[in-house]
Amino acid sequence: MRCELAFPTIVRHPEPEQFIDAVAGMRIESVGRRGKYILVGLDGDLLLVVHLGMTGQLRLVDAAKPLEKHTHAVFFLDDGRQLRYRDPRRFGRLLLGTEDALLSSKKMPRLGPEPIDPEFVAGELYRRLRKRRTAVKAVLLDQGAIAGVGNIYADESLHRARLRPDRIAGTLSPKSARRLHESLRDSLRTAIANRGSSVDTYRDAWGEVGGQQEKLLVYGRGGEPCFTCGRPLSVMRIAGRTTVFCRRCQH
Ligand SMILES: [Zn+2]
Repeated sequence: MRCELAFPTIVRHPEPEQFIDAVAGMRIESVGRRGKYILVGLDGDLLLVVHLGMTGQLRLVDAAKPLEKHTHAVFFLDDGRQLRYRDPRRFGRLLLGTEDALLSSKKMPRLGPEPIDPEFVAGELYRRLRKRRTAVKAVLLDQGAIAGVGNIYADESLHRARLRPDRIAGTLSPKSARRLHESLRDSLRTAIANRGSSVDTYRDAWGEVGGQQEKLLVYGRGGEPCFTCGRPLSVMRIAGRTTVFCRRCQH
C-alpha cells in the first residue's frame, strides 16, 4: 500500500514524511484492537495504530467512491480499494512503530486488561478498585487500570451494577465488584454485537451506523425518567466527563 495525507498533523508519530515513507510497500497482516486503539499489523512487527478520538472513522471503500470532506489520510491498497481516515473534529491520531517503541516513547499508554478478556476475572477488577481513593467511574475511564471503557459504557455498566459513579472505588465490596465486572462485560459484549453505539457520528468500517443507541439506559438521558424507578436521572461531572445516573437505584 501507499499513503497520502491531506492533513499531516493527524499523524503524531513519527514525522508525517517518515510515516508516508515507512508505510509505502507494506502489507496489512492483521487487524486488531487494544483498548480504544485499532492496531493494524504490518510487515516486520510494525503497527499502524489508529485512535478514532471523538469523531474519527476508518473505512474500507472502493476507490471510485467520492472522497468525503474531512478525509485526512488515504491508504491505497493493491486490490484497488482504499482505507480512509476521516475525522471532522480531528481529535483522533495515527501512529506508526513497533509496539515496544510506541510504549517506550509514550506515544501509546500502557493499557490495563480488557474487560471482555476471559482472563480478566472479577477478583482482578476488585484488586484494581480496592487501592484507589477516587470515584469508581474515574477508575473505569483510566485506560491504565482497565482498557477500552469509555464514557458511555462506564455510565451504563455502573447503572446496571446499581453503583453510584462517584462512589470511592476502594469502598466497593468484593460482591459489588463482581456485579460491576458482570455488567461491564455485558455492556461491552452487547455493544460489540450491535456494532457499537450510534451516538453522534459513529460508523463502523463499512460505513453503517451503530445500532446500540436505542438500548442505552442512562447515557445521554439526564433529566429523563429512570427505566427502573421512574425518577429523573441525575447529572454530575466526574473526571471531566458528563455522568448520568439514578440517585434511587444506584448506591
Ligand atoms: Zn432509578
